[in-house]
Amino acid sequence: MPTPISPDIQKLDHLLSSTEKKIAMLAPSFVVDFEYPKIITILRHLGFDKIVETTFGAKIVNECYKEFLSKNQSKSYISSPCPTLVALVENKYPQYKENLMPFVSPMVAMGKVLKTHFPGYKVVFIGPCLTKKLEAKKFPQVIDIVITFSELQQYLNNKNLRNIESNLEEKFDSLSTEATKIYPLDGGMTESMPADDLGCKDKIKIVNGLQNELKILSNFGTESQKFRFFDCLSCPGGCIGGPGMISKEPTQTKIQKVRNYLYQTTKEKDKWEEGKSEDTTGISFESNFN
Ligand code: SF4
Repeated sequence: MPTPISPDIQKLDHLLSSTEKKIAMLAPSFVVDFEYPKIITILRHLGFDKIVETTFGAKIVNECYKEFLSKNQSKSYISSPCPTLVALVENKYPQYKENLMPFVSPMVAMGKVLKTHFPGYKVVFIGPCLTKKLEAKKFPQVIDIVITFSELQQYLNNKNLRNIESNLEEKFDSLSTEATKIYPLDGGMTESMPADDLGCKDKIKIVNGLQNELKILSNFGTESQKFRFFDCLSCPGGCIGGPGMISKEPTQTKIQKVRNYLYQTTKEKDKWEEGKSEDTTGISFESNFN
């Protein structure tokens, strides 16, 4: 029996059939499920006008975190890029909402930059996450559609596009960055900052997986005496274990694919248009969870 088409895929199909300008924004975990740079060729064939990574959004978030943590030394803070973790705090532990880092996620940060640089373009985020669909609803002016890698694969299968030839010269259109390509890994945020820059190197707790998160949150009053910053991702191993991933490979294999991609693209540095701080001028990345 054919798999039913999700409402978001229907929206995507409608957008791709329209004359509207559109941008595909790929979460960096895409390398686990799709070949690079072939996926860029495929997305161009689908009709996207620009194809970018979320990595520059992650770099922006890192910069916001570094500055905030250096200025706010008296409390413990919880990372907020993972919407499942944010929803958990908001709904089950609202007393800790004030501990969530008061900034948008990399997806929203990148969406804000794109909507500023390319006014009128629709932005489609493609990633491993289901709860990003709910997060995007809070930012309807920034993110137009969220689809998972599984949904994209289903769409490509229907369009018979997975087997087109790759153009090895293909590259992302703009505003990429390197270090944050490891963001979807457990501890990737802290590693990409790096920890020294946080001003609390020995006081960072990195956890992944819902059960581990719950353990920390249920004991937050005590734990927060010991740690200043919790770097948490709700899925096992981080976003590479997200429910919208296609791959069922072991976590170590997925980690290696992400690290290989970082290594490969670092060597191709001249191919990239690096996002710079001036690209964010006048844009607010603050978010209020209270
Ligand atoms: S860890 Fe899972 S729930 Fe959290 S942002 Fe990543 S894919 Fe989404």
